[in-house]
Amino acid sequence: MHPVLKALGLNETESGTYLGNGEWSKTTDAGVIEPVSPTDGSVLAKVHASSQADYDLIVERAQQAFKVWRTTPAPRRGEAIRLCAEALRANKDALGSLVALEMGKSKPEGDGEVQEMIDIGEFAVGLSRQLYGLTMHSERPGHRMYEQWHPIGIVGIISAFNFPVAVWAWNSFIAAVCGDISIWKPSPKTPLSAIASMKICNAALKQAGFPDIFFLFNDAGSDLASSFVDDKRIPLISFTGSTKVGRMVGERVAQRMGRSLLELGGNNAIIVDKSADLKLAIPAIVFGAVGTAGQRCTTTRRLIVHESIHDDVLSKLITAYKQVEKKIGDPTDPANLMGPLNSRDAVEAYLDSIGKAKAAGGKVETGGAAIEGKGNFVLPTIITGLTNDTPIVQHETFAPILYVMKFSGLDEAIAMQNAVPQGLSSSIFTQDLKAAEAFLAASGSDCGIANVNIGTSGAEIGGAFGGEKETGGGRESGSDAWRAYMRRQTNTINYSDALPLAQGIKFDL
Ligand code: NAD
Repeated sequence: MHPVLKALGLNETESGTYLGNGEWSKTTDAGVIEPVSPTDGSVLAKVHASSQADYDLIVERAQQAFKVWRTTPAPRRGEAIRLCAEALRANKDALGSLVALEMGKSKPEGDGEVQEMIDIGEFAVGLSRQLYGLTMHSERPGHRMYEQWHPIGIVGIISAFNFPVAVWAWNSFIAAVCGDISIWKPSPKTPLSAIASMKICNAALKQAGFPDIFFLFNDAGSDLASSFVDDKRIPLISFTGSTKVGRMVGERVAQRMGRSLLELGGNNAIIVDKSADLKLAIPAIVFGAVGTAGQRCTTTRRLIVHESIHDDVLSKLITAYKQVEKKIGDPTDPANLMGPLNSRDAVEAYLDSIGKAKAAGGKVETGGAAIEGKGNFVLPTIITGLTNDTPIVQHETFAPILYVMKFSGLDEAIAMQNAVPQGLSSSIFTQDLKAAEAFLAASGSDCGIANVNIGTSGAEIGGAFGGEKETGGGRESGSDAWRAYMRRQTNTINYSDALPLAQGIKFDL
């Protein structure tokens, strides 16, 4: 067994179902998930998937738990999350290593993901005393009006493989201080990271006498996940994943008049203006395009460079990429900058996209091939010579492929940046105040995230995270994203002896 699993108290065979009451399901006949190391193809452990009966029991227990949790004072709920954040801090090194091992991101990125869990936990603790509503002035004498926010119920969380633990914490920690119970269905590619996170947090809750607020099930296929999406007992489904699956989830949840929070694919661009400070721009582009081997929703996939500096930027990038090439390898070794792609399918998709780019007239400036040998390693790739409307440039390939294009005027650059179906993250490198403000204006970037002199990836938890168009429109994490996990109620109280009707209506009896 891998020592990282041992360090977290995981076994070679694990149940993928947390049923509440400290019980992990004994189901063994609903399929087995075998997470594979993307570094060498070895099976890391066996995870028993959940059955329909497991799922039904979880929902029943979550409904019971909600009845208690919704009336637990919010600051007390915050205390529960404070303990989870503390427990995660104590296990940061081990859990960060597991994320690196199972997902394939580098060890510093794995640790960084656990740090995000801790950060959102601390944010949620503060939030537990700040679930503010507004008061309004009533138009009627002797009346008071205000709004309050109540817990929504059970929050269903479906997460992607590339952020196997942070996305759960973003959702479940905020949901918990809002008074909700969450049920998590993680990616079948990263069940161990989910099981470990659940064990760490639930042990901390149990030790302090808190009830169950987090449940987990794993689906060997997608039948249980589909019924989760259709389940009327789950008022909110928070889905993180591809636009293809997210579109279906959004439509199905809308069909039953539920709420969905969608965090889907991106096709993020950096504009490099002629005044850009390349000492900032080059490392930001390389980190954005190559970090997590191009498997972040905020990965930089398009670079739109002013024609006067295009050749200089390209040659500096190629030099930097050659440096990265020397540090591709086992992601659990902190010396490596880039790990493997998560699956063989992802390697095929990478090669397929490069083939399509070449067929469309693209030139591979560096990279363009998978690395021979064990594991799903590929070379980070830069492609020039394609226009923004080329179908493959419009498509999110979840791999380190960067399309570099030229522009001559800023309006043209902003139009190119916006002319894709997705709308997640964007940035401009410039020292020109007018260019920066034009990029951030209502007529500028159409993305949910727009940065100046910082790359597209690596958002902080304090802001609301998410994007427009085919990215799904959802917002998670900081700012007032908590409102998605609550229901708003407007209250009017009459403390007079009369019953005046709104809008001055008379209804004489
Ligand atoms: P995916 O869409 O293949 O899977 C996401 C989740 O959906 C998994 O848990 C999967 O098991 C589940 N799923 C699959 N079929 C389902 C069904 N029929 N019903 C319900 N659930 C189903 O995505 P992925 O490959 O795991 O992740 C990569 C994608 O996620 C990329 O497109 C990336 O941009 C996106 N992503 C977006 C964000 C964001 O915040 N915007 C963050 C991370 C990842």
